[in-house]
Amino acid sequence: MSRAVSTATVVGGGPAGLMAAETMARAGLAVTVLDRMPSPGRKFLLAGHGGLNLTHSEGRAPFLARYGSAADRIGPVLEAFGPDDLRAWSAGLGEPTFVGSSGRVFPQAFRAIPLFRAWLARLDALGVTIRTRQRWAGWADDGRTLRFVGPDGTSSLVRGDVTLFALGGASWPRLGSDGGWVGPFVERGVAVTPLRAANVGVRVAWSGTFAERFAGIPLKTVALTVRGRTARGDAMVTRTGLEGGPVYALGADLRRELDDEGRCVVLVDLRPDLSADVLGARLALRRERDSGPTWLRRAIGLDPVSTALLWEARGRLPAGAREAAALVKAVPVEVHGTMPIDRAISTAGGIAWSQVDEALMLRGLPGTFVAGEMLDWQAPTGGYLLQAAFSTGVVAGRAAARWAAGG
Ligand SMILES: Cc1cc2nc3c(=O)[nH]c(=O)nc-3n(C[C@H](O)[C@H](O)[C@H](O)COP(=O)(O)OP(=O)(O)OC[C@H]3O[C@@H](n4cnc5c(N)ncnc54)[C@H](O)[C@@H]3O)c2cc1C
Repeated sequence: MSRAVSTATVVGGGPAGLMAAETMARAGLAVTVLDRMPSPGRKFLLAGHGGLNLTHSEGRAPFLARYGSAADRIGPVLEAFGPDDLRAWSAGLGEPTFVGSSGRVFPQAFRAIPLFRAWLARLDALGVTIRTRQRWAGWADDGRTLRFVGPDGTSSLVRGDVTLFALGGASWPRLGSDGGWVGPFVERGVAVTPLRAANVGVRVAWSGTFAERFAGIPLKTVALTVRGRTARGDAMVTRTGLEGGPVYALGADLRRELDDEGRCVVLVDLRPDLSADVLGARLALRRERDSGPTWLRRAIGLDPVSTALLWEARGRLPAGAREAAALVKAVPVEVHGTMPIDRAISTAGGIAWSQVDEALMLRGLPGTFVAGEMLDWQAPTGGYLLQAAFSTGVVAGRAAARWAAGG
């Protein structure tokens, strides 16, 4: 007599959920993915709009260190499915990857759409069913059956042999993940570290003129310092503050300083590759007829946004070479807070690691697994976010398939 095929319900159709679905379908399970949005993978597609940074090419130790306090739990997950595996997976979908100048890894087409289309076709061929416009609204009274609400407000009940949650964090809620899952999980006694914005811009009260003229213009290759920690890269000026790689990288220090002091001064080094002495020597050769901005441009190559930042800091341009050099090396920018979570690239917090075993199964709910940004880890931008989403999807998917098989 043939054994009945086990069924798996995946709640959430982002990269973590779809990767888990693929893994379980390959293991022979009949998989249904339910997502509240009209189509799956919306955040993944947005992530890939300006360049899908799938993972990073750096070595294992520095890579793992990006996950901070969660590194000891993410380590085995990356062992099971690491950056090379992810790159091979992408190549298998017709998108070989390449390493960009910063070590970041992108698919050949750079954008997410070709990869995502090929992936959906593969999932379809594997028999994975995707049901959209189905919002998970908690458990039914038996504590195991899942309750969904459809587009017309009608409820339906779903129960599989195994359940895998991959509902994401709470950033960019209009793409589907709004953190609405926290309530039902907490009610069930699952410990959840509060969700907070991560990889998010900061608020700066620019003058009207500066905001008007320079919003959308990057401060190129600068170094930002907070609490003695420095991060380099391009920082984008926005109407209400600053965003971009170095701002995100200093997020934890910024938040700590804001929590402790209510305000935080970020020091911006506009010329991190030149010492104050070298800058001072070049600035000392000022031609008499040069205006302040021309002097700064000719002597040390300051562009208009950098020059305007000096104005913002002092209300005037520095007059002498030594004063200018010192200011260029450490322009104080006062930060008043971080942008709200709905503008963040990712979410810190989530289901506490104490609540899941090494197979990412909820300790209090056997047969129920968790993957992706729902778990309590965070990392900077650079491909670490998607890598962890995919890797946890594989690990939880494999374990769920073993569980369904009675292993
Ligand atoms: C603008 C932007 C750019 C980014 N760029 C990059 C990048 O280049 N590289 C990188 O590594 N990371 C990037 N990220 C982060 C990355 O996209 C996320 O970390 C990743 O998508 C998380 O995957 P996930 O599957 O855990 O969650 P999500 O992608 O958020 O997927 C969760 C899914 O669950 C569904 N869902 C939520 N609640 C319910 C519910 N109640 N019922 C049913 N379904 C529900 C959602 O609709 C969604 O489809 C970027 C993020 C943003 C916002």
